[in-house]
Amino acid sequence: MATSPDISVAARAKYEPIIGLEVHVQLLTVTKIFCSCSTRFGAPPNSNVCPVCLGLPGAMPVLNKKAVEFAVLASLALNCKINETSIFARKNYFYPDLPKGYQISQYDKPLAEHGWIELTMNGTSKKIGITRLHLEEDAGKSLHEGFPDAATKTAIDLNRSGVPLIEIVSEPDMSSPEEAHEYLTRLKEIILFTAVSDCNMEEGSLRCDANVSVRPLGARQLGTKTEIKNVNSFRFIRQALDYEIGRQVEVLESGGKIVQETRLYNENEGKTYQMRSKEQAHDYRYFPDPDLRPLLVNEKWRNEIRRLLPELPEARRKRMMADYGITGYDAQVLTSSKNLADQFESAAKDAKNPKRVANLVQSELMGRLNARNLAIEQSPISMQGVAQSADLVESATISGKMLKDLYDLCFERNKDFSAVYEEEGRPEQSREVSVLEKIVVDVIAANPKQVEQYRAGKKTVAGFFVGQVMKASKGQANPQLVNELVVKKLQE
Ligand SMILES: [Zn+2]
Repeated sequence: MATSPDISVAARAKYEPIIGLEVHVQLLTVTKIFCSCSTRFGAPPNSNVCPVCLGLPGAMPVLNKKAVEFAVLASLALNCKINETSIFARKNYFYPDLPKGYQISQYDKPLAEHGWIELTMNGTSKKIGITRLHLEEDAGKSLHEGFPDAATKTAIDLNRSGVPLIEIVSEPDMSSPEEAHEYLTRLKEIILFTAVSDCNMEEGSLRCDANVSVRPLGARQLGTKTEIKNVNSFRFIRQALDYEIGRQVEVLESGGKIVQETRLYNENEGKTYQMRSKEQAHDYRYFPDPDLRPLLVNEKWRNEIRRLLPELPEARRKRMMADYGITGYDAQVLTSSKNLADQFESAAKDAKNPKRVANLVQSELMGRLNARNLAIEQSPISMQGVAQSADLVESATISGKMLKDLYDLCFERNKDFSAVYEEEGRPEQSREVSVLEKIVVDVIAANPKQVEQYRAGKKTVAGFFVGQVMKASKGQANPQLVNELVVKKLQE
């Protein structure tokens, strides 16, 4: 965890943190936002470039329709109101990875506004407002390693220049690092369900900046905020916020003032450091890009896109809990990706008893996955495998004990249920019963004295026979089944 400045819990409790987040998400289009260059990650440096994304004079941008559709889809999923007219603006600044000298973004007329995400934490719900969602292009990348002369030179890769992004700006509605973490988790989940981005943080498809201030409890006026930039995981965002809140409280408690500035988080030290103060901040001199017409998203187009909207995670969890009688926790696990939820539902629908499929996932599958520290996507047993095993138990072809053993074999061999079931010769309970029956008969025949005791009324002797049969089966038999067979044979 972050090593917060050494301030007492009591001092912290006197202040209320105010947190807002800005999230950049790369859209999964095949080509860039204003040219037909590929967006593929990992291509050799400067291989996916053209006059438009190199910013050569006279090159004209042409808006990618797919990028707009993806941005509208994300906006609808985040409960935003889509503006019929939005304007692309030039955000002017100089940086080596920005050859045009400006970034095309949206400013006072963004694509979408007034959305929200609902968080449920510790049983209470809270809506976090989304101020705006706008489209923009990404800049290039400065490279400081991985090429000759890297010790003395910086190289520029412009493959990322012009890749489509949406920026999602939240209201300053979050009041703890935990809420910020939950907001990011839910936001990412919703975006993944819409499939407009892969949200891969390692590849920079999802990036987050945080604004944070503190004010004395009950105060109305907002405190001076700082911005934390370039944090590359949700866990580090939570740690960085925790540290920064502590730092600000300490400054205020010792009579100091918070300076509005941009800070960087050092994850190794668990501390934030000043990057630049706002006095040095840019004046971006935004103005409408004369090369791009206003973006019009009329009602007809908006409705066409709305039809592409999938059932979103929160709604899906509620419905799955009702349809399959599963717990909120299980619904959470089963909707951890849309793919998994789809797999589960298609398997459960085809199964004789969908509830049994859900139960097996919860008990037998999750238990084994957790014990091995595996995510459900890494499970050797597919949802179809779970459904098949559920049907076999449902039809009494295999017992619960046999299912457990088969699941263990699946994990040992890293194979799906259907494969292991075949390898084991399609075991059946009835075959197991006839083998056990023979052992029971033998054990009874070998112990006439105990049989007499049992028939004379000493029913507890049955336990002796069960023990003997279990021993003879080398502990493999199902004790409940053995007990039933022993009692049945003793009473014959
Ligand atoms: Zn290009």
